[in-house]
Amino acid sequence: MILHPPTAFGPRLTDARGSGAWDAPRGRRKHKGLDWETAPWGLVHAPMDGLVVREAKPYRQPKGDINTGLLLEGTGAWEGWSLKLFYCSALVIGAQVRAREPIAVARPMREEYAGITPHVHLALLRGGTAFDPTPYLEKKSA
Ligand SMILES: [Zn+2]
Repeated sequence: MILHPPTAFGPRLTDARGSGAWDAPRGRRKHKGLDWETAPWGLVHAPMDGLVVREAKPYRQPKGDINTGLLLEGTGAWEGWSLKLFYCSALVIGAQVRAREPIAVARPMREEYAGITPHVHLALLRGGTAFDPTPYLEKKSA
């Protein structure tokens, strides 16, 4: 099974705010997702075939312009899996999408987190458990 990269950039590398890698330290917790670099206001593409079920927010409390995202429930090969994409605004809700289709617009992040690399957070879930998306991401062809 393959996840299509959500933007033409790559994984968020270590910046002034930390690393975007799976299991990177976040205080006393670990980063249970993968951050993928975006352009501010850039298009975010569906990593897999699925249904955009609803908006999904990264934080319970208000958090500037970045407390937004979406829940994509997989279909086809990804049936039973879901992806949450954070720090982006959904273009469609309640619609079936194909991998690679534009589904969201990335939010600028630096007003909230100075020095951070703009990114979307990918949380890959199955049965309430988070999995590392990294091994599923399609390698760029040479
Ligand atoms: Zn993240």
